[in-house]
Amino acid sequence: MSVLARLGLSRCINAAGTLTRLGGKPMAAEVIAAMAEAARVSIDIAALQQFASERLARLLGAEAGMVTTGASAALTLAAAASIARDDLARMAALPFCPPPNEILLPRTHRSMYSHALAAAGARLVDLGHNDRGTGAGVRGLDAWEIAAAITPATAAFAFAATAETIPSLPAIAALCRARGIPVIVDAAAQLPPRDNLRLLLAMGADLIAFSGGKAIGGPQASGILAGRADLVASALAQQLDMDIRAEGFSPPPLLRPMFAKGIPQHGIGRGFKAGKEEIVGLLVALDRFAAGDDATDAAALQARLRAIAARLAGLNSVRAELVEGGRVPVLAVSVDPPARAAEAVLGLKAHDPPIHVGERRVAEGTLLVDPQSLLAEDDALLAAALAAALTG
Ligand SMILES: *Cc1c(COP(=O)(O)O)cnc(C)c1O
Repeated sequence: MSVLARLGLSRCINAAGTLTRLGGKPMAAEVIAAMAEAARVSIDIAALQQFASERLARLLGAEAGMVTTGASAALTLAAAASIARDDLARMAALPFCPPPNEILLPRTHRSMYSHALAAAGARLVDLGHNDRGTGAGVRGLDAWEIAAAITPATAAFAFAATAETIPSLPAIAALCRARGIPVIVDAAAQLPPRDNLRLLLAMGADLIAFSGGKAIGGPQASGILAGRADLVASALAQQLDMDIRAEGFSPPPLLRPMFAKGIPQHGIGRGFKAGKEEIVGLLVALDRFAAGDDATDAAALQARLRAIAARLAGLNSVRAELVEGGRVPVLAVSVDPPARAAEAVLGLKAHDPPIHVGERRVAEGTLLVDPQSLLAEDDALLAAALAAALTG
């Protein structure tokens, strides 16, 4: 009997994407085996993170990297690193650290994940307007506004990467670099394209956060923080368990410059510890992901979506359309009258097992089938349930 069944739990069918609230993307057997193997042994976590740093540095073209417990945790650690740098007393003071403790954040880049930056004790300073978002105008954030906002209290600049914002990164990074302000880039869900693994750092990001549980296919509670070695070292020092005697401790190379000053206390990131299972699992998943190819993946997903669309063809008042050009292909299933879409969402959630589809366009009568976390063996079941929910 399966563990879930023994506990009386039910899985769900996820056609909504790599959503964290649905458990992220199911892991490949090789990644699960790697985590299980790591779970059976004891290992020096600082040395393991040093190993991870070298692997991530090579794969991402970064000076250093570390495994975190998600992109959100990576943002908190990035903020803590930007505020405390290599100052052990400032690390110990967080989250109540004197300036520089401000992070500049364009209003167009603010999201619910901005809370992760504030959690380190950063004061978020909103920049610019959201004219395009509100339809009030055509202007974005001007360079002079950023330059004018940088003060001695500024610790970092926060940048949310999307297909729309990425082109503005090089200019912002150059401006901030000239003023000694690190740029923290939230690229949690910006994979694929795989090029983004290296592109945003090459564009000048000082620190970048990726989610491990989304497209990379790593453990759900894993992520990556990578970039400048001094900042990653600060982040790592604030995440690792520091209950060590200085005399008997030989710090890994990444931490050596900082530890020459003394041993930090448990940092603000101590509660975000990455386990050996997450670290090993993330590295194996990332190797698999990096070895793959965007076009091959997209073609395979398109073929599956076309088969699901074929099952819906001919249904009254239902239209299924393949949407390409996004990060991954999705199937947009529209129903008439549009109000039936919301009913269908409820009907699918009442299915056994519950089925989740993308709800972003429900108001216009469209369900989105995002195949990233959908097990191929569930495709036929999903198509039949969709047909029933949309016509029932
Ligand atoms: C998913 C996401 C995060 C958080 O990632 P986790 O790995 O779940 O912590 C942060 N920022 C953005 C933009 C995201 O989409």
